Amino acid sequence: MSDHTMNMLGVQITWLGHATFKITSPQGKVILIDPWTQSNPACPDNLKQVDRVDIMLVSHGHFDHMGDAVSIATATKPTCVAIVELAGWLEAKGVQNTIGFNKGGTIDVQGIKITMTHAIHSSGVEDKSYVGDACGYVLEFENGRRLYHAGDTCAFSDMQLIHELYKPDVALLPIGDFYTMGPKEAAVAVRMLGVKHVIPMHYGTFPILTGTPAALREALQGLGLSEVEVIEMKPGQTI
Ligand SMILES: [Zn+2]
Repeated sequence: MSDHTMNMLGVQITWLGHATFKITSPQGKVILIDPWTQSNPACPDNLKQVDRVDIMLVSHGHFDHMGDAVSIATATKPTCVAIVELAGWLEAKGVQNTIGFNKGGTIDVQGIKITMTHAIHSSGVEDKSYVGDACGYVLEFENGRRLYHAGDTCAFSDMQLIHELYKPDVALLPIGDFYTMGPKEAAVAVRMLGVKHVIPMHYGTFPILTGTPAALREALQGLGLSEVEVIEMKPGQTI
């Protein structure tokens, strides 16, 4: 265990590298967000094979967020959650038990409340199908703790609405720059979200994703937010 001060009351968060997280709820539900393991260079070899998933969430159609969605869903038969057009695409690929909904909606899946949030990013799949917008998710676990996974996005002022409406306890934010926000933007996102704990993601996977947790800490200090805890996970680590 790491020396962070976040207390999610039994929520276990495992980073599989990049934007891929496996989260175990207090009641033991296994949630996989943005399934990309086999060709994910940041995913440790012993975690590339995912054997159990109860709920799978996909933020958008890019390969680095759903490269293994079809294969893992076929093997583990989770409830698969995505924006409506992407859910339809996954169904066409043989994925069963999809829930396709849209931004602003909240669903209850096996006791976990899942809200789809806005994200500002592109989306698309290799076969050029239209698969809807990119999105993020707020998860509320059985114990009331709330986690925000931003997906891929720039910082946007409606993150203040995510704070007002859902009050996340922790935010998983991309900081790599280039395809998403970098540390400077992520620090402002933290301020808008009002979170005291942030887990950086979507950095270091490829050389072009240059943002670092240290740069995020520095940017937070520059905003007078040095009390915010940057939880720097290692791929494969569970907190
Ligand atoms: Zn991405």
